[in-house]
Amino acid sequence: MKNLKIAIQKSGRLNEKSVQLLKNCGLDFENYKSSLITTVNNFNLEILFLRDDDIPGYVAQGIADLGIVGENVIDESQAQVTYLQRLGFGRCTLKIAIPKDSDVQDLADLNGKAIATSYPVILQQFLNEYKIQADIREISGSVEIAPGLGLSDAICDIVSTGGTLKSNGLKPFADVRSSEAILIGREGLLENPILCELLQRVQSVLRAKETKYVVLNVEKINLPQITELLHGVKSPTVVPLAEEGWVAVHTVITEDDFWDKINTLKAAGAQGIVVMPIEKIIL
Ligand code: ATP
Ligand code: ZN
Repeated sequence: MKNLKIAIQKSGRLNEKSVQLLKNCGLDFENYKSSLITTVNNFNLEILFLRDDDIPGYVAQGIADLGIVGENVIDESQAQVTYLQRLGFGRCTLKIAIPKDSDVQDLADLNGKAIATSYPVILQQFLNEYKIQADIREISGSVEIAPGLGLSDAICDIVSTGGTLKSNGLKPFADVRSSEAILIGREGLLENPILCELLQRVQSVLRAKETKYVVLNVEKINLPQITELLHGVKSPTVVPLAEEGWVAVHTVITEDDFWDKINTLKAAGAQGIVVMPIEKIIL
C-alpha cells in the first residue's frame, strides 16, 4: 500500500509534542533535525518536517496527506482541510492587547484604530463579527513592539503568559480565539485504511493520557461504598489480600475524576492508594 505523508513542524512549539505523539503511537523513526523527510520503519508513513505556516497548504494541495498544526494557523491560511482529531497540546489564545495607558475601554472604541497583527484574516473576521472598522496593519514578527514604535494603537497576537505584553507596556484587552494543535487531513482521505489505523492509535494514546490506573486497599465491609464512588468505570477488579477481610480494588479512572474523589475515597476507608500511568487504551 502507498505510504501516507504527515507534515509536522520542523522546529518550534509544536515539534516536540508532535514527534512524541507519533512515537507514543508505536511509530519507529529517526528524528533528524537536518532532514526534511523521514520514513517510519514499522508503519506506512513518511514524516515531512515543515514550517507550521506551510502545513495547511501542503495538506490542502495533497502534497502531504496529514498534518499537525495549530487551529490559528489553519484558520489564517483558509486552507480547505478536514479536522480529524483535536490533540490537546499547543493551547494558546489569540488576543487583542492595548497599551497600558490606552483610552480604549470597550470593543467599539477600536473603531478607527490601527491594529498590528500577523493574523489579518482571523482579526478581520473578529472585527466583522462585532461590526468594528479598524485598520489592520499586517506585520510578520515582533508584533508587540508596534504600539511603542507608533505603528499601531493595539495589537492582535498569541498571548500565553502575558510577560511579553507587560515588558512592552501592553495589557490584554479582548480574546479573539483560542487554539490547540489539530490532526488535519486532506479532503477525501477518511476511508484510507492506513489513516484508520493511525487514528485509532492516536485516539488510544490520547485516552490513556487522560486516565490513570488506580489500585487501593479496602476492608471488605467498606467495599460497596468504594465501588459506588468508582461507578462510571466498568465494574472494578476486586482481588483478595493475604490479610483476612481485606481486598485490593483495581480500576481505571480519569485523572480529574481521581482528584475529585480522592478525599471521599479515603474517608470511605481506601488505603495505600497507588496511581499509575497508562500507555494505551484500546476500546
Ligand atoms: P515556524 O518556524 O514553524 O513558522 P512559528 O515561530 O511560526 O514557527 P511557534 O512559535 O513555534 O511558531 O508556534 C507554533 C504554534 O504553537 C502556534 O501557531 C500556536 O498554534 C502554538 N502555540 C502554543 N502556545 C503558544 C505560545 N505561547 N506562543 C505562540 N504560539 C503558541
Ligand atoms: Zn510559523
